[in-house]
Amino acid sequence: MKVTIWNENLHEKSNSRVTKLYPGGIHGYLKNVLECDDIEVRTATLDMPEHGLTEEVLADTDVLLWWGHMGHARVSDEIVDRVQKAVLGGMGLIILHSGHHSKIFKRLMGTTCNLKWRDNARERIWTVKPNHPIAQGVEDGFLLENEEMYGEAFDIPNPDDVIFIGWFNGGEVFRSGCTFTRGNGKIFYFQPGHETNPSYQNENVQKVIRNAVYWACPVKKPGNIPCVHFTPPLENID
Ligand code: ZN
Repeated sequence: MKVTIWNENLHEKSNSRVTKLYPGGIHGYLKNVLECDDIEVRTATLDMPEHGLTEEVLADTDVLLWWGHMGHARVSDEIVDRVQKAVLGGMGLIILHSGHHSKIFKRLMGTTCNLKWRDNARERIWTVKPNHPIAQGVEDGFLLENEEMYGEAFDIPNPDDVIFIGWFNGGEVFRSGCTFTRGNGKIFYFQPGHETNPSYQNENVQKVIRNAVYWACPVKKPGNIPCVHFTPPLENID
């Protein structure tokens, strides 16, 4: 399986807390988490030509992970078009944390993807679809001692499945793990991962992301569903 991890890689350059948590960047850290005999990982960042997401890279990607925050507006619309086309054609997409406001997620959802937020919260993540492949081996009600609060209402279309609900110590709740289908592509949104918190070091978070990569990987990428003048029909309609 071919996985590409995209990260804007901006906080890592300006905030020493982030660099300390993730010395090789969030993308580098997640690469180490995911890489194994089954999974080949490449990384791509905002500052690379075409943000590292050339036609060739996307054609060679089964699942794309996306972490972005302060640089959303700097992602070119041409690349957003290209990623959207790849997803509709069957590439899996995993949107992490503040990627909820990325151009690509908003494009695919068609809504604002707005939510409530507050720094420095404690979160418990509850599994509400224990039989879903993404939930396998994940401890129910696992604790993240420090995470950013994301709260409802989260302006997304109804997900195919809500797999995880996050509860925060301010009383808020959030649909923390949601799946969607767009065209031939599977999409998973996962809320933890604020850059100054160690959430990606948490074993349950790592398990969810790993499960999601396997779940989102297409059996094959069939390409975009075509629009065809279908004639003659298979049945005789004379
Ligand atoms: Zn954040």
